[in-house]
Amino acid sequence: MVDMPGHYCGVVAMALTSDAVPSLKRALRVIQHRGQEGAGIAVYKDNKIQSLANVGLVHEVLSGQRYNEIEGNYGIGHVRYSTTGRSVAQNSQPIVVTSAIGDVAVGHNGDLVNSESTRERLQNIGWAFLTTTDSEIIIRLLVNELKEGVDPVKAIRNVMHQLNGAYSLVIMIKNRIFGVRDPLGFHPLSIGKLDKGYGLASESAVYDILQGQFVRDVEPGEIVEIFPEGYTSYPTNSKVNSAHCMFEWIYFARPDSVLDGREVYDVRKKLGMILAREHPVKADVVIPVPDSGRAHAIGYAAESGIPYEEGFMKNRYVERTFILPEQSLREEGVGLKLNPIKSTVAGKSIVVVDDSIVRGTTLRKIINLLRKAGAKEVHVRIGCPPVIAPCYYGVDMRTRDQFIATNRSIDEIAEYLTADSVKYTTIRDVEEAIGMPASKLCVACLNGEYPTNVPGEKCRKQPTLDSFEEDSQQ
Ligand code: 5GP
Ligand code: MG
Repeated sequence: MVDMPGHYCGVVAMALTSDAVPSLKRALRVIQHRGQEGAGIAVYKDNKIQSLANVGLVHEVLSGQRYNEIEGNYGIGHVRYSTTGRSVAQNSQPIVVTSAIGDVAVGHNGDLVNSESTRERLQNIGWAFLTTTDSEIIIRLLVNELKEGVDPVKAIRNVMHQLNGAYSLVIMIKNRIFGVRDPLGFHPLSIGKLDKGYGLASESAVYDILQGQFVRDVEPGEIVEIFPEGYTSYPTNSKVNSAHCMFEWIYFARPDSVLDGREVYDVRKKLGMILAREHPVKADVVIPVPDSGRAHAIGYAAESGIPYEEGFMKNRYVERTFILPEQSLREEGVGLKLNPIKSTVAGKSIVVVDDSIVRGTTLRKIINLLRKAGAKEVHVRIGCPPVIAPCYYGVDMRTRDQFIATNRSIDEIAEYLTADSVKYTTIRDVEEAIGMPASKLCVACLNGEYPTNVPGEKCRKQPTLDSFEEDSQQ
C-alpha cells in the first residue's frame, strides 16, 4: 500500500504575546474532524523551532512530558487525514527543516497535482527526499529559495509558481508566520483575532471556540503574514477565478464554520430543502444518516413537512468505515456503527437523507438494516450530485471504478442499494445552495472537468492556474 500524502487535512497558526501551545492544541481539537490519523505542532523559541507530531488524535499526541516542556509564542499546527495507506509517524506534520537563514516549518492541507513530476525533476538534479509527501516538496522548494537578503514573501511566491493543485499552507520561517492559499482557493483558510494576537485556521469555528473573532478568509492566491498586533496581506495581482471545493460545504467542514462567506449548516439545509422541492415523496418520517446527513435531512423535513426523526443510534467510538481497505470490513464497520431505532422505523415509509454517496457501501448497508427493522419503504435523498470522477486536490475519492454512479443509471443505483427510490441534487442545486456559480467552484468530481491541468483529464475552459503563473511572473 502506498502512503497517500496531503489530502484533506487541517491547519492552524498563531502569533501571540504569550505561549501559543495550549491555544494551538485547542484549535487543532476544533478541527479534529479534518484528520484523525496524526497531529502536530511546531513552535518558535530562542531562535529555534521545536516540534511535536505523531500518529493519533490531537489530545493523545499533544500530551505528556514533551508537550509540557515545549513552548513558544509563535507556532503552527496540523491534523492529518490519511487514506488506507499507512499512517507513518515520519509523515506527520508540521515538517521542520533548517535552512540557510534558520529553521522553517510547514503544514499543508490539499493535494498537489504535479508532485510526482516535481519530485522527479528535482531528483534528476540531485535532490533526495525522505518522504513521499507533497509537503516535503513544498518545504524543500521553499528552503531552496530562502537566502540571506531574500524577502520570504518573494520566496513563497516563487514556490507558488512551481505548484499545481490545492494547497492551504501555514509556514513558519523562524518567528515569521505566513498563511498561503493556492490561486484557486480550493480549500479554506481564514484569519482571526485572538485574545493575545492573531491566528490562521482552516475553519472559522476555531475563532468562536477560542473566544476570538473571525476577521476574513484568506483570498485565493494571497499570502498573509500574521503578527501579535495584526496581519499584512500580499494579494496576487492576477485575475484568476476561484475553484472552491464544493465538498467542503457538503461534507467536510463543520456545520458551524463559515467558508468564503457561506455558513456550512445553511448550505446543507438548503440542499435538503431543494431535494424536498424537486423530489417530493409521500412518507411518514425523514431520518438522517448520522452525522453527515443531519443538516440536509433537517432541510428536507422542514420543506416537506414530514416529521424529522432520529432513525439510528450511532456508536461514536467506531473508527471511520470509509477508509477501511476492504468492502467486507467497511460493511461490517457500518453495521457496528449504526443500529436502527425500532419505533421510528417499523412499519414506516422512510426518507433517508445523506450528504453523499461514493461507493454506496454506507447506504446499501443502512437500507438493509432499515428493512430488517421493519421499514415499509425506503426513499433515498442525497445532498451531493453523483460523484463520477476522481479528486486530485485532496478529497479521498481516487479512482473511477470505486464510484457507484460511474456506469450506472439512477434506477440501477436504486436497485444496487435496494432502495424504493434514489434522488440526487444537481450541480445547479449546488450553485443555488452555496450561492456561487459553478465557475467559481471546483465540481470536477461531479463533471470530470478540472480547474487546473491534470494529465489525462479534461481541463475546464476558463482562467486556470497556468494563467496565474503567467500573470504573476510578469
Ligand atoms: P460510501 O459508503 O458511499 O462509500 O460513502 C459515503 C459516506 O461516506 C457518506 O455517509 C459520507 O458522509 C461519507 N464520506 C464521503 N466522503 C468521505 C471522505 O472523503 N472521507 C470519509 N471519511 N467519509 C466520507
Ligand atoms: Mg457519512
